[in-house]
Amino acid sequence: MNDCIFCKIINNEIPATKLFEDEDVLVIKDIHPVAPVHVLIIPKVHFASLVEAKDEHQELLGKLLITAKKMGEKLGVSQTGYKIVINNKEDAGQVVFHLHVHLIGGWNKKAEGYKI
Ligand code: AMP
Ligand code: ZN
Repeated sequence: MNDCIFCKIINNEIPATKLFEDEDVLVIKDIHPVAPVHVLIIPKVHFASLVEAKDEHQELLGKLLITAKKMGEKLGVSQTGYKIVINNKEDAGQVVFHLHVHLIGGWNKKAEGYKI
């Protein structure tokens, strides 16, 4: 997917602050954070939104949530709480059409080891 900004980040063609990476997922800081903690959990395979997900993506979709849970722990917001958001298509305000999960939190507690 040549013109996809998240594919370019995954392929190291443009920079991002990478917090975690394995063979399936990448976690980066959101470039325009809406809270003290705002990171994006991105599958390495490209599909535009949940609408385009197929049955074969079941395991990967579960991994996105488990990765979000682990990042919540790592970023120190598991006890204070956080939102998980997936915007799907225009009406939901999606602007980057490569599926991603927002993890947003840290309003009431300065997240440990995390600075914007
Ligand atoms: P949405 O498609 O509405 O779920 O939102 C896309 C999110 O990606 C926004 O919160 C942007 O701030 C974020 N974003 C866009 N470009 C970058 C980038 N190059 N690095 C990190 N985050 C980005
Ligand atoms: Zn992509």
